[in-house]
Amino acid sequence: MPELPDVEKFRLYLQSTALHQQIRTTSIVDAAVLKGIGESHFSESLRGRTFEKAHRHGKFCFLRQDDQRFVFLHFGMTGFVKYYTKEMTAPEHIRLSFEFTNDYTLAYNCQRKFGQVGITNDIEGFIDSEELGPDALDGEFGEDEFIQRLQGRRGMLKTALMNQQVIAGIGNIYSDEILFQQRLHPKISLGQLKKTTLQRIYTTMREVLTKAIHAEADPAKMAPSMLTHHRYGDGKCPSCKADIEKIEVAGRRSCYCPSCQDN
Ligand SMILES: [Zn+2]
Repeated sequence: MPELPDVEKFRLYLQSTALHQQIRTTSIVDAAVLKGIGESHFSESLRGRTFEKAHRHGKFCFLRQDDQRFVFLHFGMTGFVKYYTKEMTAPEHIRLSFEFTNDYTLAYNCQRKFGQVGITNDIEGFIDSEELGPDALDGEFGEDEFIQRLQGRRGMLKTALMNQQVIAGIGNIYSDEILFQQRLHPKISLGQLKKTTLQRIYTTMREVLTKAIHAEADPAKMAPSMLTHHRYGDGKCPSCKADIEKIEVAGRRSCYCPSCQDN
């Protein structure tokens, strides 16, 4: 499932491909991905427009149009974007695409239909209406606010890290990575954590996400000290070489090292 580092990769991709080209038509293959707007209204409001800038908040990408409105994209479980010409292979599972006057197409693809696309007038208002927490890498989201948001909550740390209303951007993979880097069990509850531990978790969260972005969200390019590198690789803990195990936490399949994360 695309998390903050994956969506940041999509943002950079959109930023370097699909901007400043006039949209000739919009094809909606599957109207089920549209959220809060009908098929014809969506197409009409995009015709003749250009995208001027790509933004991101948590797991959402926003394409700013030249009329200052935004197309928002959420990638669900399997979504991604591709910019291509007729000579190139079109991706499978296109749900919606924008055809530009330069004969390029920007396709929004989603194999499993959990993605969302729509239009919003402003990003701040969208964040409020979706009740999203601060972006995990936002420069203004500091340690104090992180601690405020987590302290006093019930339940597990992992659940809170993955809750988009608490912090936006983290899902199953990177919450596992943060827990591993702090040698905390995936089922550890927030009540067990001291303030100093929460401070360390904040720093680790920022480091893990930044490193993952630098590795273009590709586990193979991540440092060998990262669990994510090994969960998609040899399946061994990078510290003690024990087999990485899986347990069900908050309805997700969490990976961890039973010997390093045994607290
Ligand atoms: Zn280990």
